[in-house]
Amino acid sequence: MRIYQCHFCSSPVYPGHGMMFVRNDAKEFRFCRSKCHKAFKQRRNPRKLKWTKAFRKAAGKELAVDSTLTFSARRNVPVRYNRDLVQTTLKAMARVEEIRAKRERAFYKNRMKGNKERQYDLDKKLVENNPELLRIREVEIAKKLAKEEARANRIEQDDEEEEEVSEDEEMDIESEEESEEEEVRQRVLLKNKRQQRSKRVL
Ligand SMILES: [Zn+2]
Repeated sequence: MRIYQCHFCSSPVYPGHGMMFVRNDAKEFRFCRSKCHKAFKQRRNPRKLKWTKAFRKAAGKELAVDSTLTFSARRNVPVRYNRDLVQTTLKAMARVEEIRAKRERAFYKNRMKGNKERQYDLDKKLVENNPELLRIREVEIAKKLAKEEARANRIEQDDEEEEEVSEDEEMDIESEEESEEEEVRQRVLLKNKRQQRSKRVL
């Protein structure tokens, strides 16, 4: 049993899955699902669709040129069956796979290098351009402090007089709600700003 590769997206096609198209020159095309088959029938170019391996490799997002990838290529050289050769081949397959995975990890790490710093710079610029965003943080800190104070006061009050419900507390609750509304409004503002920025970037 052989696991074929999807002609369109290069994902594995397991036995009993997907479909095969045989062109009238006897070339076989295997597809992992109807999505790929349909795209093929519409003559879409897999290099131009972001979800295919062809695109990812062409765009430098995945390891494309490597010695470990050449092992699985088919060669038109018939090999005579040899027990020892099969054994060493099986051993080598595992080892090659291991090396390939390692290199792919290294490639990914290298590709993602510097993303954190870049994001940090973008955030810094955003805050510099929109100083009102810092006010949200001030509001949050003030709220936290107020809450802690209120809790401390409550504990003291509980110690002294337990049954009395003062009007001050009601006032506190109202003001808290107001600050929450303010915060929500600020959050929405921030979100809109971010969306606008991402649109501009795109
Ligand atoms: Zn596919």
